Amino acid sequence: MSICFFAMMHSNAEAGRNAGDDRYSALRRQMVAQDLKSRDIKNPAVLAAMEKVPRHMFVQENLWAEAYDDHPLPLTENQTISQPYIVALMTQCLKLEKTDRVLEIGTGSGYQAAVIAELAGRVYTIELHKSLAGHAEKALREHGYANVSVRCGDGFFGWPDEAPFDAIILTCAPEQLPQPLIDQLREGGRIIAPVGGELQVQELLLGTKTQGRLIIQNIAPVRFVPMRGQAEKK
Ligand code: SAH
Repeated sequence: MSICFFAMMHSNAEAGRNAGDDRYSALRRQMVAQDLKSRDIKNPAVLAAMEKVPRHMFVQENLWAEAYDDHPLPLTENQTISQPYIVALMTQCLKLEKTDRVLEIGTGSGYQAAVIAELAGRVYTIELHKSLAGHAEKALREHGYANVSVRCGDGFFGWPDEAPFDAIILTCAPEQLPQPLIDQLREGGRIIAPVGGELQVQELLLGTKTQGRLIIQNIAPVRFVPMRGQAEKK
């Protein structure tokens, strides 16, 4: 399944954590107050993570000025990084604990993985595009996220060697939740994913594994890039 593998071998923590200067810290505080706290993001740990992670450092430099506006931003390979509110909402829904092992499908820039890494014990993230996986791995390393492992491959199959996971997050939309991911979720674990076709309204679904099956809750209508690869095969 995997065509390449990037393990986080070491951290460059302090250099990276100081990278957001005062200007960006102020913009982040404003983003948290205006776009998250005033809406339904209430979990203090999620708010603290959103205030801490330097979103601008995960996108191209020409986008830094708008990195804390509440809208999606373009990545290379025709992909996008979700608006901060959706990142915070998905993270909050997962009710993460400090010891949780989390699987993310769709690494993109690595920003969502960094937010989760602030709240969980260990993050495993899979990206289909080799160039995105490489950039994300580098950004995560530079910012001290030694508890994140990035793999390049098709996330449809999950990461069986590291299963079971306490939580799973998809940031690309399949038409149906891939069965291997459900299988790799532990009993009581949570999975959050946008589900629906490319031209349909997708629904953000939160599933909780209960007696081997998912109890599903609809969270919000959303629009994500489609999940490519095996998920597209009928
Ligand atoms: N979470 C990201 C945003 C990701 S956008 C961030 O914080 O920046 C969705 C990503 O899913 C894209 O990078 C896309 O290449 C990836 N993707 C699409 N299909 C995939 C698949 N089958 N397996 C892994 N990644 C996939």
